[in-house]
Amino acid sequence: MRKTKLIHTTTRRLTFIVLIVGVIFSFYSLLTNPTSRSSSSLKLGPYYEIFRDSSASLTIDDLLTDDYHSSFTASTDNYLNFWHTDDVVWLRLQADELLLEHDKSYWLELIDKLESITMYLVNEDGSYEIQTGGFSNLENRPIHFRSILFTIDNPSTVSEIYLRLEGSLPLTVISSLYTTNEFIQKIISYKFFTGAFYGFLTALSIYNLFLYFSLREKAYLFYVCYMWSFMVFQATMNTFDIELLGQLVPEWFFTRSLVLSCNLLVLFMILFGREFLELKKNLPKFYRLLTIALWLNILLFVAAILTPNVSMINDVTTVFTMIVLVLLWISGFQLLRKGLKSARFYMIGWTILLSSIVVQGLGFLGIIPLHPRIYEDVPAIGAIFEALFLSLALGDKISIIKSENERMQQALTETLEDKVLERTQQLEKAKRELEYLANTDRLTQLANRFRLDSMMDVAFKRAANDNQPLSIILLDIDKFKTVNDTYGHQVGDAILIETAKLLTRIQREKDVIGRWGGEEFLIICQETTEGEALQLSEKIRSLMEQHAFPINEPLTGSFGIASYLPGDTVHTLISRCDKALYQAKLNGRNRVEVF
Ligand code: GH3
Ligand code: MG
Ligand code: MG
Repeated sequence: MRKTKLIHTTTRRLTFIVLIVGVIFSFYSLLTNPTSRSSSSLKLGPYYEIFRDSSASLTIDDLLTDDYHSSFTASTDNYLNFWHTDDVVWLRLQADELLLEHDKSYWLELIDKLESITMYLVNEDGSYEIQTGGFSNLENRPIHFRSILFTIDNPSTVSEIYLRLEGSLPLTVISSLYTTNEFIQKIISYKFFTGAFYGFLTALSIYNLFLYFSLREKAYLFYVCYMWSFMVFQATMNTFDIELLGQLVPEWFFTRSLVLSCNLLVLFMILFGREFLELKKNLPKFYRLLTIALWLNILLFVAAILTPNVSMINDVTTVFTMIVLVLLWISGFQLLRKGLKSARFYMIGWTILLSSIVVQGLGFLGIIPLHPRIYEDVPAIGAIFEALFLSLALGDKISIIKSENERMQQALTETLEDKVLERTQQLEKAKRELEYLANTDRLTQLANRFRLDSMMDVAFKRAANDNQPLSIILLDIDKFKTVNDTYGHQVGDAILIETAKLLTRIQREKDVIGRWGGEEFLIICQETTEGEALQLSEKIRSLMEQHAFPINEPLTGSFGIASYLPGDTVHTLISRCDKALYQAKLNGRNRVEVF
């Protein structure tokens, strides 16, 4: 228990530190203005002129004729998006606006994943040089780099640059122009940021993998898989697959890598979300919906592999992903409203991711002014924050579960202790009752024969050891049989009870009074001489004689007294007392005799 607590406080601290670093990092990268010339590259977006050839049959020679020269329209955006189209898209740049330093070489970079793109460097005299790019033309790459690169070695002779784009993937263009020095600078800083980005995510995922091994919570495993699939997705988004796998895998793969990695990402998103929010238990309806989504997801994955028409699967996957994201967000929201504490961080993370995607979407639709930074970085930064908050959410959830367990355990212990205490008290009470029953005469509530026997032993030992006087008195009710016969057994019982009450009334502290049997009572009088016992007996005798028992005639008793003599046993003492009682009966009853 202490170990997991430690892990969680460490996780939280670590995550908060990383969070702060992340915030600083992302603000830095968003605030550095990417459009200005000073930032060592020129974004080409607004410099383009565009022409869409719906016949897809025109060549560069056609376009260089006067017929088409004025068919181009100016672009205004940094980011050009033609989505899926059967058209061939032509872009044109005017060299005199761009290639200002004639003694330098230039690099033209497109960071998009394109199937096929051709560049024509048109000279003043109408001749042109051709370069090809895109993953259909990997063998022509000038260097092994993730983006598409063209070189312009003799800027002074170039008058216009034409780009011809086609392919089954969405046609998008984010492009920049660099001199060689600027390009080297860019590669260096780019490698640094890529290293930081993937390094951070890898570290976070490995950390969570260890947490999975030590805590065995399935949600951690799904989270790790989710992060890995996110990295794969981000890598294919940034065309790292092309940089790394280049000519090793066929073109077929690059047309599908994005849609496949997107489906992989969605798969683990669903698995993680379901597990983390415990939807099966908490929101069964959403659990079922997401299970259907899981199957659709697998179906899309297979379809993307088999289909010849990737564009369609691309579109379906995009819509499908949005639906899944919204479903997962709503699940979290519902549970948060229901008061599920562990949904807090989950919701923050998920809301950040969704908002970053919405920002991107709004940018695409032209609703908010979009510059390439938004296209490139916002979803990635959003996803980093999401990953962080999900990590926090996991730690938070575990500690909530743990403290709930502890609370339950404590409650259990408390009730258990209460129960044990109650049972002990009950047992003690039962024991006392049993003792009372074992030592008490039912009818009169006086000591019974069993108790008298043991008290006799005690009193006898005391008399012998301490040299104290000890006397005993035997009382037998006179003619009791006649009472029974005349008034019935019940009246007899009542008289026995009343006699017992009389005896208790005169009882001294040192006396033990008990029912010897039938209508006979024994009084053990400790520290009492024969004379004192005689007085006591007389007192009882006259009390009985004067008492109004519930019968018509007076009721009397006969008394025998014996006192302890050295050498006596319990038996001899009682036997003498018995004889004294017998004497009293013989001498006419209602009297006291001493042996
Ligand atoms: P004596 O003066 O010689 O002692 O005459 P007695 O009738 O008292 O003596 P006896 O021993 O012949 O009779 C005792 C009677 O006490 C017999 C029995 O019915 C009655 N007895 C003993 N125990 C109980 C009891 O618990 N309840 C009632 N109602 N009667 C009892
Ligand atoms: Mg008797
Ligand atoms: Mg009697």
